[in-house]
Amino acid sequence: MPLTHSNKLLRKIYFHLPDCFKNTLAMTYSIINDTKRYGGVFQEQLATLEKNATRSLAEIEQDQVDNLKRILIHAGTTVPYYIQLFKKLNFKPANIESLDALKQIPVLDKETVRMHPEEFISNANEGKRIIAHTSGTTGKALKLVVSKATEQLSYAGVWFHYGWSGIRRGARIATFSGHPVAKPERMEPPFWVFNRIENELLFSSQHITPQTLPAYLQALQEFKPELIRGYPSSIYLIALYRLETGQKILPKAVYTSSETLLDFQRKVIEEAFECKAFSYYGNAERVAQILQCSEGNFHILTETGIVEVLNPDGSPTPPGEEGELVCTGLINRTMPLIRYRIGDRAIPATASCACGRNSPILSTITGRVDDIIITPEGRHIGRLGHVFKNTLNVKEAQIIQDTIDTIHVKIVPRQNYSAEDKKMIMAELRFRLGNEINIIIDEVVQIPRTSNGKQRFIISKVPLQVGNIPHLAENSRQGKTMRP
Ligand SMILES: [Zn+2]
Repeated sequence: MPLTHSNKLLRKIYFHLPDCFKNTLAMTYSIINDTKRYGGVFQEQLATLEKNATRSLAEIEQDQVDNLKRILIHAGTTVPYYIQLFKKLNFKPANIESLDALKQIPVLDKETVRMHPEEFISNANEGKRIIAHTSGTTGKALKLVVSKATEQLSYAGVWFHYGWSGIRRGARIATFSGHPVAKPERMEPPFWVFNRIENELLFSSQHITPQTLPAYLQALQEFKPELIRGYPSSIYLIALYRLETGQKILPKAVYTSSETLLDFQRKVIEEAFECKAFSYYGNAERVAQILQCSEGNFHILTETGIVEVLNPDGSPTPPGEEGELVCTGLINRTMPLIRYRIGDRAIPATASCACGRNSPILSTITGRVDDIIITPEGRHIGRLGHVFKNTLNVKEAQIIQDTIDTIHVKIVPRQNYSAEDKKMIMAELRFRLGNEINIIIDEVVQIPRTSNGKQRFIISKVPLQVGNIPHLAENSRQGKTMRP
């Protein structure tokens, strides 16, 4: 849990401290977190992941079957929801021989977990539990419980991914995320706090404005990070400004998370920092970790979860087509979630990856299930980030759909933005959305962030109508607009 995120009293104290004490508090907090994340099974798991990295696909699959059997037996004997469900289905986990057995279990909606969280918690006593809440992008809280070990296994996956770029623990890290490191109304730097234990400079993503960018860039340049990580929308702004000024910042790699890394963002980030940008996909439920490699493919970390991509009717989505991610977590024994609809969409890859890793891959994670615009004809159009890939004159963009027949596109223009850019964007939007929908492009000074500093690319009030998927509720999409 990030500093001051979860604890209101701590946040209040923190904001009243002089800056030097903020660093000390960040460090103290980090010492506590450090043992939580990097103690216990962390090192052992990291070593295992590295050792497993050269396995064949057949070995990987056998290991997944073994791990699946283990978690299903555990769920079927200690988790009230699964005890009942397996009994009803007459499902015997001990008998399973392949991943196909999973298909006997119905997919699980977030709403079911939200309504009855206690039903999903194991009654086995397996060490300290951590209660976590996620609001996701829906604005509705979901209670989750994980164990200390789950957290450690999960962080091992994160550092395994960093290892692909030669980044080891102790490296200098610049993080751009939702940590409220400074009061929202603060106008003067610092908008960051140094955490000596982690060797991490933690930047606020909420304070980036044309006025504060020089201070951000200078802090980054002085810090000389080996790794820049965090929200792509924030790192992209820094990257654009760095290209304008010509100052050099040369990390080994950039790792983005929490939002989809859009193509136009990647292009600018890689150019600005002269290194590769990798997208990391994880979730608060700890049901899947998916790691982008230098070839651009997304490798499923098979030790963390089993990932399916499904069509609305529940059939597997063929390679090259887009479907919904359904995940079975293997590392959270405290609250196992099986065939869980995480709420994101992806495209299974058509061929194996040229990077040489044998783990199963997706060619793209296209983003939230509800990052979709619905046209008056009923077409569901995602991946609209492509619209902006050919113009560097757009600093930020957001698409808002209040009704089925109209979208508002907010654009924060850069200096050279002209009528030509607007024309090109309109043409790109028309190409994808057709002529039936009204498109209104507005130039704005900035795009508001969510309460934890993320940028939402699409905000829609129009309910999804995806086949027989019933629980992509109107509510969840409306919920999101409450906190744009
Ligand atoms: Zn690869």
